[in-house]
Amino acid sequence: MERRIYADNAATTKVSQPVLDAMMPFFTENFGNASSIYTEGRNARRALDGARETIAKALGAEASEIYFTSGGSEADNWAIRGTAEKLSAKGKKHIITSVFEHHAVLHTCEYLEKNGFEVTYIPVDDKGLINPDDVKNAIREDTALVTIMYANNEIGTIQPIEEIAAICHEKGVLFHTDAVQAVGNVEIDVKKQGIDMLSLSGHKIHAQKGIGILYMKKGISLPNLIHGGAQERGKRAGTENLPAIIGLAKAVEIATENIPEKAQKVTAMRNRLIDGLLEIPMARLNGDRDKRLCGNCNVSIVGVEGEFLLLSLDAKGISASSGSACTSGSLDPSHVLLSIGLKHEVAHGSLRLSISEETTDEEIDYIISAVKEVAERGRMMSPLWERIVKGEEIL
Ligand SMILES: *Cc1c(COP(=O)(O)O)cnc(C)c1O
Repeated sequence: MERRIYADNAATTKVSQPVLDAMMPFFTENFGNASSIYTEGRNARRALDGARETIAKALGAEASEIYFTSGGSEADNWAIRGTAEKLSAKGKKHIITSVFEHHAVLHTCEYLEKNGFEVTYIPVDDKGLINPDDVKNAIREDTALVTIMYANNEIGTIQPIEEIAAICHEKGVLFHTDAVQAVGNVEIDVKKQGIDMLSLSGHKIHAQKGIGILYMKKGISLPNLIHGGAQERGKRAGTENLPAIIGLAKAVEIATENIPEKAQKVTAMRNRLIDGLLEIPMARLNGDRDKRLCGNCNVSIVGVEGEFLLLSLDAKGISASSGSACTSGSLDPSHVLLSIGLKHEVAHGSLRLSISEETTDEEIDYIISAVKEVAERGRMMSPLWERIVKGEEIL
């Protein structure tokens, strides 16, 4: 079989064997509806309650504060639209977010802007970090919500979440964070960190696609997301996806165990990857070197198109990602790369490699040599690189 190296764990992850094993009985013998009162139903109910308990414990929350959703996007939508709907009745029609959020947050904010809300987009610096003072200065009398991502999915930067949460509370504003990329990489305790709402997704932490949660602190009580039955305390109707929920609980449990040890191991591999790739002439690291997710490496190799990088690496058995225009699905390179001030030419040559604990040192070596070879080949046919070499193009 052709050798494959999966280095796109920020896009999705493989369902792990323990997660799959935990799920299987809930397709077969434990198939009951958690709302039924006979034995199968009660078994399902018990498993559902247990899963909610496990996830709550891992986040420092209470079980009654965990709401299952179809994933990170749904949780983000609910937190933002729900808060907007609820607080606009009290005249609060202003939301604060950052320029480089996931589209699940940005497009929800844009939707609200078209519907009478005002949104302030906090900038990030050239390393992709938010200055908490900018959040403080943006808060107004009519601010309903501050939503800032815990860790960025493209460049991996980790934000000062506790500081931002403290500022929000000082001013009496709710704070939501999209922690989809952070879970399992940093230790999260919603109570200690003052997080009012948090989004999490299963498929980024070795559970299946289509399952996630919104943590909603007691007392917040957002409007119902789906009207219907009494599931999720009446707020999100629909028969629970029990196999996915059981898998999610197992994945959260595993992801939040021994985080420091796992992070240390992955960070060491990641740093070697970054150092190896920065040996490529004029390559640059995108995002902060230290305040970043342990598995995230994002570099720009000017003079090589992201699409060429991805397809050439794919041919060598490596799965990676890029924020170049061709791969971002629009005419422009990714908004995240532009937000840290990259010129289009530099953003077009971006390469994201997101590794995991399963990545090996040998794979890192292989990736480094493959990227070096592909970059050199790409630059040989690049008019931009030719101009740079002649000293014409100053970036
Ligand atoms: C993947 C991702 C999402 C979306 O989660 P889904 O479960 O795929 O809807 C949201 N935010 C971030 C930061 C992500 O990386």
